[in-house]
Amino acid sequence: MIRVTVWNENVHEKLNEKIAAIYPKGIHGAISDGIAGEGVQIRTATLEQPEHGLTEEVLNDTDVLIWWGHRAHKDVSDEIVNRVHDRVLKGMGLIVLHSGHFSKIFKKLMGTSCDLKWREQGDKERLWVVDPAHPIAEGLGQYFEIEHEEMYGEHFDIPAPDELVFISWFEGGEVFRSGCTYHRGNGKVFYFRPGHETYPTYYNKDVLRVISNAVNWAAPRHGIRQTYGNAKPLEPIKGQQ
Ligand code: ZN
Repeated sequence: MIRVTVWNENVHEKLNEKIAAIYPKGIHGAISDGIAGEGVQIRTATLEQPEHGLTEEVLNDTDVLIWWGHRAHKDVSDEIVNRVHDRVLKGMGLIVLHSGHFSKIFKKLMGTSCDLKWREQGDKERLWVVDPAHPIAEGLGQYFEIEHEEMYGEHFDIPAPDELVFISWFEGGEVFRSGCTYHRGNGKVFYFRPGHETYPTYYNKDVLRVISNAVNWAAPRHGIRQTYGNAKPLEPIKGQQ
């Protein structure tokens, strides 16, 4: 059983009626419903909860954390960001969605500005699978499309991904590295681009399939905790007393 926590700042849904109509249960609710199934145990957490819903207890009980944020990145406390960062280095999986590219946690893990080009004109987005053997691409065709999305364009100021799973093409002409994997410490990180709040992207079956696949990919596979620091030799070292 993979223990998943879906975190959402849950701000747009409360400020904008149109967005609330698209996501009556919040973006976190749509994602939770969309990836629910055998093998996953899902909880949600939001910004306004004490400790943003990410207490030590919750994080210690989380295998994969999914992150959606946009307007309120600056309102996420540094203490919680450090706590999530520490958990990733110890092996928790992290899936950062869409405007989470500018979240404190993603920028801290990447070490770059994570800036990009953007446009809100309802471009069609076509996501090409460029690593068909990757587990995150399981069950997809050569590409899938989202009828209307916000455009994100290169250059995307991230470190070169360990693996690039998707490249997006947009109707207006831009391209974007839209599915990027990273290893950080013992943990795995996946950035996945789609999910602007004014479009019903988190009901798209291919988008949900990618998030489900990413949950499986990012979940820690084994319980070995690495140890660091001064180490005793495993066998006698010749020449030493
Ligand atoms: Zn957006």
